[in-house]
Amino acid sequence: MIPGEFIYHRPSSVAEAVSLLVSHGDEARPLAGGHSLIPMMKLRMAAPEHLIDLSGVADLKGMQEVGDTIVIGAMTTQHELVNSDLLIAKLPIIRETSLMIADPQIRYMGTIGGNVANGDPGNDLPGLMQCLNAVYVLAGPDGEREVAARDFYEAAYFTALAPEELVTAVKIPTPPAGHGFAYEKLKRKVGDYATAAAAVLVTMSGDTVSSCSVALTNVADTPLYAAQASEILNGSTLDADTVTRAVAAAEAITMPAADGRGPAEYRTKMAGVMLERALARAAERAKG
Ligand code: FAD
Repeated sequence: MIPGEFIYHRPSSVAEAVSLLVSHGDEARPLAGGHSLIPMMKLRMAAPEHLIDLSGVADLKGMQEVGDTIVIGAMTTQHELVNSDLLIAKLPIIRETSLMIADPQIRYMGTIGGNVANGDPGNDLPGLMQCLNAVYVLAGPDGEREVAARDFYEAAYFTALAPEELVTAVKIPTPPAGHGFAYEKLKRKVGDYATAAAAVLVTMSGDTVSSCSVALTNVADTPLYAAQASEILNGSTLDADTVTRAVAAAEAITMPAADGRGPAEYRTKMAGVMLERALARAAERAKG
């Protein structure tokens, strides 16, 4: 399929990009890596009349550690997330998760900003960002504001982002050294979206969990931060009974669609299985 006609814009600053979004309103869409938007345009499920290509905006690129936060520019590609020495040292779950996104060709183009802004429940980074308690920096005509990843997603393809706003960066609190982590994703084949996936971040003090957060991917209209499951695990020794209760609490908040990836009950169960595996791997990695 061939997309409808559009006018192409290539701003060189965030201010210019926002002003184009303001001028063209609902008819405009930012273009990042294009690996969600262009397929939608080819299928005529999206038909923006103005495409605002963000690839010339230098301020949206790069990543750095600022105090106890890692700040990643929205136009950082998934390939760069996989290969960043900073992330490998401080936030290795980002590499682990990004490596499970699609295939290398897509990761060369796809960006963190596009992945989190898209609102597709199948995307892997939104759930991860909820697990990491990340905050999205949004720029609009009235300046900047910040929205927590845990508050950003409203429904499939509906988010807290206004049409004239851009995601400029993602801010992630640096977890303590020695934390445990795991992203477990069940998929039908390499390059597929998740049937169900779970992200876990855990810190241990000896055999006891001193902090734990859990989020799920593609088992509802939005990514799911599993608050109750995280609470159950906190302060526990990850004994079998506690893990069973946490898994049940996580499964209880899922509302997956039945689709080619399986019936709803199966996907809920698989979310629990992914969580159990992620917990075991994260605990093994944590240095108490
Ligand atoms: P684009 O496609 O350019 O944009 C996506 C949406 O976000 C558009 O609505 C656009 O207007 C908006 N947008 C982009 N950047 C911004 C910004 N900075 N501010 C505001 N709005 C913005 N993803 C996964 O997570 N897991 C997978 O397993 C997976 N498999 C895939 C398999 C295939 C075959 C394909 C084609 C894609 C797959 N993807 C997967 C999606 C891929 O990761 C996309 O690259 C990603 O979802 C979107 O990022 P992008 O940079 O390409 O954004």
